[in-house]
Amino acid sequence: MARINDSYLKLKAGYLFPEIGRRVTEFTSANPQAKVIRLGIGDVTKPLVPAVIKAFHEAVDDMAKSESFHGYGPEQGYGWLIDTIIEKAYKPLGVTLKSNEMFISDGSKCDCANILDIFAISNVVALGDPVYPVYNDTNVMVGRTGEADKNGYYENIVYMPYTADNNFAPGFPSQKVDLIYLCSPNNPTGTVATREQLQGWVDYAIKNEAIILFDAAYEAFITEDDVPHSIYEIEGAKQCAIEFRSFSKTAGFTGVRCGLVVVPEALTGTTANGEKQNLNRLWNRRQSTKFNGVSYPVQKAAAAVYSDEGWQQVQEVIDYYMENARLIREGLTAAGIDCYGGVNAPYIWLKTPEGMTSWDFFDKLLTECHVVGTPGSGFGPSGEGYFRLSAFGERSNVAAAVERIRAKWGK
Ligand SMILES: *Cc1c(COP(=O)(O)O)cnc(C)c1O
Repeated sequence: MARINDSYLKLKAGYLFPEIGRRVTEFTSANPQAKVIRLGIGDVTKPLVPAVIKAFHEAVDDMAKSESFHGYGPEQGYGWLIDTIIEKAYKPLGVTLKSNEMFISDGSKCDCANILDIFAISNVVALGDPVYPVYNDTNVMVGRTGEADKNGYYENIVYMPYTADNNFAPGFPSQKVDLIYLCSPNNPTGTVATREQLQGWVDYAIKNEAIILFDAAYEAFITEDDVPHSIYEIEGAKQCAIEFRSFSKTAGFTGVRCGLVVVPEALTGTTANGEKQNLNRLWNRRQSTKFNGVSYPVQKAAAAVYSDEGWQQVQEVIDYYMENARLIREGLTAAGIDCYGGVNAPYIWLKTPEGMTSWDFFDKLLTECHVVGTPGSGFGPSGEGYFRLSAFGERSNVAAAVERIRAKWGK
């Protein structure tokens, strides 16, 4: 009989969102008149902007005519999209990239998972706690870890706590690590790494011959001038960092699927005998073998994000979400609740009032304010006592939710 990958059995059951769903359904069945407002989801709610829709439609029409039909495209993505992104998204940051350093994909979740293909299982991985669960679980799946302990920490992973006590900026790992996941702006905490902090990580990675896996899925939500949008704004990063970006949150592509990875030419790793190998070449080999590119209409739609019209329209949607974030952050702060994030990210990470656990606060918020959020403990043990609210909602709902919370907890 075929043997399974035993590592899958080490994963804890996808518990967080099903459990939220179960508790919400239980409450709404018992209280059908309650108008429940959901600020728990990490998905966008606004439709694609008109410039993107127009390019998407035109590209579909191209596919209907033999002279403009497109079959397989380059596995790495079309050159016109790559060059547009380099020109419009990286050059203004003072970052120069070559076309062969960028790979277009069907989204960052897959990229963050697939990148593990090119690294040996013996690498030691460091990741945040709380964290985007994909980093942790994909390392479990490939067999890099032992079992989870009673707190949910897996053996062989180095966890870096992100808490109010360290200002959401953990120190360097005390043991040697090879792969370091950084996510800024951060999901779930909504906080950002400063230029100085990122310089510290890059220097650390170069000194320790580690690779940084930098997830910049929320870079478009940065509103403060001095916060880096790309790890490559940091000196030395092209020698030690891979960057992931996505059109999902930036341009509402969660249901369309497009992302990208940057693997600079200068990046190297070593073989078992210590010989240096080029990581860009390995990733290119991996993609050309296991991936056949993103569809032509989707890449056309993605390119339209960077047209003058498209960029302005996308920016308006981001501003709308960030105004929601401001309302939540300021409303809750006025109610005496400690809030973090929400300035450069569409998430507000709050300290639960009266020292409640994340789940106790979830239940109280649901049953007394009819508002749904996400318990911080679901993102890792250090998320206990915290709670995430998302700014991806309708303005009137956001305002009503803030008002209900203020009425309940405000002084
Ligand atoms: C939403 C999100 C992504 C993007 O995932 P896609 O697969 O591109 O939709 C990546 N990283 C984090 C931390 C996210 O929250």
